[in-house]
Amino acid sequence: MADDEGNPEQPDSGLFDRIVNLSRRRGFVFPSAEIYGGFRSTYDYGPLGALMLRNVKAAWWRSMVQLRDDVVGLDAAILSPPAVWEASGHLQNFTDPLVDCRNCNERFRLDKLDDVHTCPNCGAKNSFTDPRQFNLMFKTYAGPIEESAAEVYLRPETAQGMFLNFNNVLTTSRKKPPFGIAQIGKAFRNEITPGNFVFRTREFEVMELEYFVPPADAAQWYEYWTGERYRWYLDLGMPESKLRLRPHDPDELSHYSSGTSDVEFLFPWGWDELEGIANRGEYDLTQHTKHSGERLEYFDQATGERYVPHVIEPAVGATRTMMAFLMAAYDEEEVRGETRTVLRLDPRLSPYQVAVLPLSRNEKLSPIARDVLHRLQPHLMTEYDETQSIGRRYRRQDEIGTPLCVTVDFESLDDKAVTIRQRDTMEQTRVPIEDLVGHVQSLL
Ligand code: ATP
Repeated sequence: MADDEGNPEQPDSGLFDRIVNLSRRRGFVFPSAEIYGGFRSTYDYGPLGALMLRNVKAAWWRSMVQLRDDVVGLDAAILSPPAVWEASGHLQNFTDPLVDCRNCNERFRLDKLDDVHTCPNCGAKNSFTDPRQFNLMFKTYAGPIEESAAEVYLRPETAQGMFLNFNNVLTTSRKKPPFGIAQIGKAFRNEITPGNFVFRTREFEVMELEYFVPPADAAQWYEYWTGERYRWYLDLGMPESKLRLRPHDPDELSHYSSGTSDVEFLFPWGWDELEGIANRGEYDLTQHTKHSGERLEYFDQATGERYVPHVIEPAVGATRTMMAFLMAAYDEEEVRGETRTVLRLDPRLSPYQVAVLPLSRNEKLSPIARDVLHRLQPHLMTEYDETQSIGRRYRRQDEIGTPLCVTVDFESLDDKAVTIRQRDTMEQTRVPIEDLVGHVQSLL
């Protein structure tokens, strides 16, 4: 989107602090181990963050698994033996180039520096050490005695679980290419420069699809998934002005990839990656076939043809995506001389879909308000709040993105009706309690 003078949308640098503050203050994201002084770049998801993160993952699972008949799910192990990472290439290649500034001792990822001669921290010129390749995988030991115990790795992505189980899934699910395996789970990377809040952390959650196709159709499926994934964000309310697709230049591509596009979001520091969609060819299945001795391929009984499917992989960070949705939804507006902060989240992503607010804490109102709560709870994530003035409670719900508030007042005792207030328009409607659930659902 352009402003009045036709300039393209610019990153909003103040937004970053507002989102970090809101996350802390309202209970979306807390710094980890805070009472021990914190643990750098590690975060805990609070009551609201846990709900929202679940919603982001549920929206992905719904679109990638539930609404399709060609994708099945998987939940594979986090710990795995070195053989897996030897075959996948991670032990050799999953590295970032690390440089130190000899002047201020700050550490950087060479490939993320704008100027490879000047230290962005202290401004020193030509002060960097030669780059060293630093492997990003976390290693630990399985077994009680470290010296004799087996080395194991924490997965840095979920994808290998899908490749290792290719034959298992093929024979048990009766799928045939084109078909996919989807997984959501934790991944771990010993990042050199974690930062930008939950954008880059050492522990995070990814949502990945490995989609297996006949080799001749790979290019077409790569285009298909690129379009599908871009549309997913728009469907969940991400404005087009903050979203773009960026195909990788040939020199950016991994050695096995014949095409990669990133879905990028306009973060407060500029455009940056949310998701990568890659055409990985036959690399992964071939590597694991070579290293394990087990043939990972498809035999088409109809044609008698045997082939190694090619893989299209859309891979997205759940935690990073949640932050992008928070940033896209954040809005401040002037209402009767006061600033109202509103998270204009899609109701599918909001931590709570509805809040029940008795006009005041009162023993007459409480039973009927609780009845309203219990009617809504089985269907929707519902908050109940009877503290503070009603005005402040509306503002709190606006700020955490609750699309609807249901107010129970003294008239409710007689007319058996309540008021629904909408977050975005602040419009209020009176509805009978009997019809409330249907009414709320239709508004959402
Ligand atoms: P980068 O080059 O920025 O380190 P990448 O391109 O290697 O990342 P992928 O391996 O493609 O990232 O990971 C898939 C997705 O997982 C990314 O698009 C991102 O959303 C998410 N992701 C990757 N690393 C992290 C991290 N350290 N913290 C949070 N999310 C991450």
